[in-house]
Amino acid sequence: ATPTSIMVGTGRAAELGVLFRNGDALQSLKSTQVIAFDKTGTLTAGRPVMTDLDVIGDFKRAKVLALVASVEAQSEHPVAAAIATAAKDEGCSLVEVTAFEAEPGFGVSAQVGQHQVAVGADRYMAKLGIAVDSFADTASRMGKQAKTPLYAAIDGKLAAVIAVSDPIKRSTPQAIRALHAMGLKVAMITGDNRRTAEAIAAQLGIDEVVAEVLPNGKVDAIKRLRDGSRTVTFVGDGINDAPALAEADVGVAIGTGTDVAIESADVVLMSGDLLGVANAIALSKATIRNIQ
Ligand code: ADP
Ligand code: MG
Repeated sequence: ATPTSIMVGTGRAAELGVLFRNGDALQSLKSTQVIAFDKTGTLTAGRPVMTDLDVIGDFKRAKVLALVASVEAQSEHPVAAAIATAAKDEGCSLVEVTAFEAEPGFGVSAQVGQHQVAVGADRYMAKLGIAVDSFADTASRMGKQAKTPLYAAIDGKLAAVIAVSDPIKRSTPQAIRALHAMGLKVAMITGDNRRTAEAIAAQLGIDEVVAEVLPNGKVDAIKRLRDGSRTVTFVGDGINDAPALAEADVGVAIGTGTDVAIESADVVLMSGDLLGVANAIALSKATIRNIQ
């Protein structure tokens, strides 16, 4: 494309709230074949709420919630905020913790008074050698409801299963329909568990799901989606999306996301409205057509 048509294209995009940080992206977007979205904070609001907490055996719900919330008070994961809010709503008082440890993509643990407390995904419990089978049916049901099941262990014993639910952003269904109408494949990449990821994908009509990806595994997920020869655009918002944004043929960051994501991206959706992805592709096609 000529410098003038690129200027016109990027100007038109800016009016639609789509910022091209890189002029090449305006040319390359038109031939993208797969649009892969990060889930949390991109397809969903990234503000989960706690919907369930089921205790096992003699564990008391209020006690478990207070212990878990005390640990999560040290975490910056969106899940932590969901649990903190629930604890506050239920009038639990938090206690000081020591030896707090976060394992990105797994969960968190700490010493809370007399108790050792761990909370996280099933793979975190597996790492700690704590079986979660007794909650298999409950967790399966939660997953099918598009909720994320988490587990709490107290002093090395499974104590509770917790579900958090992250609402789908208002602009997401329409954005996916627009991409499908352009004949594109839509994919989702997430650290969340497979059942939850698949339930959300089914609700949205997403074609391909890469789930249970570790925080440093998103680059490999992009390579897998490329499947040899397909061109992949990745849309994400988080710190751990930055390497995948750089790896993808085109990286699109959410303007309300983290600075690192924005700095690694070729395109920024200023308002976070996902319809901007389809608009950007349409503009890319129009810009290239103009100069032919
Ligand atoms: P995502 O952004 O898709 O949730 P992450 O890699 O951040 O992916 O986390 C993967 C999973 O690890 C989460 O879905 C959750 O089950 C678990 N996890 C991570 N951090 C925490 C935490 N602070 N408390 C509880 N669970 C956590
Ligand atoms: Mg995210």
